[in-house]
Amino acid sequence: MSRSGEKKGNQGKREKEKQVVNLMIRLYCRKQHSGEKDADGLCEECRRLSEYASRRVDHCPFMETKTFCSNCRVHCYKPEMREKIRQVMRFSGPRMMLYHPVMAVRHVISSAIEKKRMRTGGDCCD
Ligand SMILES: [Zn+2]
Repeated sequence: MSRSGEKKGNQGKREKEKQVVNLMIRLYCRKQHSGEKDADGLCEECRRLSEYASRRVDHCPFMETKTFCSNCRVHCYKPEMREKIRQVMRFSGPRMMLYHPVMAVRHVISSAIEKKRMRTGGDCCD
């Protein structure tokens, strides 16, 4: 019983992760790429990146432990895709604040918690 519950929660996390990555790629493509787009608003290159990213999320072995906005995903990407997703994140990351404030706020909160945790080691530096 608890086992299937765990699996379900994890699946939800994966879906959310995919959704966020997808949004970021879409935003990036809309602003950076011109030319033909599919029904999702992605050019062929970005569609491939999006599919690749989704597959990585599906197979990520760290899904249970990693935090929502962790950069862990870039480590299991192959170099070509890693470079692309880095560009996407650099571009879309700050803009998510404008387009999807709820997701962005969640990111800010988790970052703040992380920062606070790091600071508890001592108050000599800041
Ligand atoms: Zn594109």
